[in-house]
Amino acid sequence: MKYIDLHAHMVSRTTDDYEQMALTGCVALTEPAFWAGFDRLSPVVFADYFNRLTSFEPARAAKYGIQHYCWLCLNPKEGEDRELARRVLELIPQFLDRPNVLGIGEIGVNRVTRNEIATFIDHVDLALHYNQLIHIHTPHLEDKYKGTKVIVDTLVDNRHIEPGRVMVDHAEEHTIGMILDRGFWTGLTLYPQTKTSAARAVDMIEMYGSERLCVASACDWGPSLPTAMPHFVLEMRRRGHSERLIRKIVYENPIEFLSQSPKFRLVRECAESIW
Ligand SMILES: [Zn+2]
Repeated sequence: MKYIDLHAHMVSRTTDDYEQMALTGCVALTEPAFWAGFDRLSPVVFADYFNRLTSFEPARAAKYGIQHYCWLCLNPKEGEDRELARRVLELIPQFLDRPNVLGIGEIGVNRVTRNEIATFIDHVDLALHYNQLIHIHTPHLEDKYKGTKVIVDTLVDNRHIEPGRVMVDHAEEHTIGMILDRGFWTGLTLYPQTKTSAARAVDMIEMYGSERLCVASACDWGPSLPTAMPHFVLEMRRRGHSERLIRKIVYENPIEFLSQSPKFRLVRECAESIW
């Protein structure tokens, strides 16, 4: 089954991973900017990173017939450094016109500090100013509920935000309701060890439905699986869900959300010719 992985950190993956994704049906993916595993000290490093996300990675993906798109930001963890944030935020606009940039992300909070929230709000203002889609990271483990609530409340308080143009990712059983209730899109992260298993993702879909919902591998430099989405498809089939519902979740829903950016039109044209 063809699928679109809305969250994949391919800078951390090998070319073999692109091949495996292509072999299992991946036709497009989007790569949010994220934490490299260590704190970067200079905005120059981010300029290099944004260059890679907008030049090398789309070319590498294209060799396997995968369309590569990306999101730009200073990630929530490094957002604690307000001076670094100011300088990286200054860099971002010059990259926004590049053909594979869909918006600002993955922004959000990590430890839910005052500085992180200020950096999050700066990114939201940047996205609104340049009419960009927004992709949001919610924190892990004990900070999940508090962080998601702060993010959702901050966005709801901003009358310029259109919830349908915002994806709030890494939802779990205790946060998915508050995200969907406010009209946002939500993402379920399929991780082999932490975050959400395929079985838990299917549980949540059975409880909350399939509207404004996507699943993604969120594969990165940690234990993660670039082909997590086909495993999710298998779990859906095991539970007896229809091919139509599966296709909506792994293919049509990402197209619906991402096509709000005019740059994503190529995938839609390609999709119509394939199907
Ligand atoms: Zn991520």
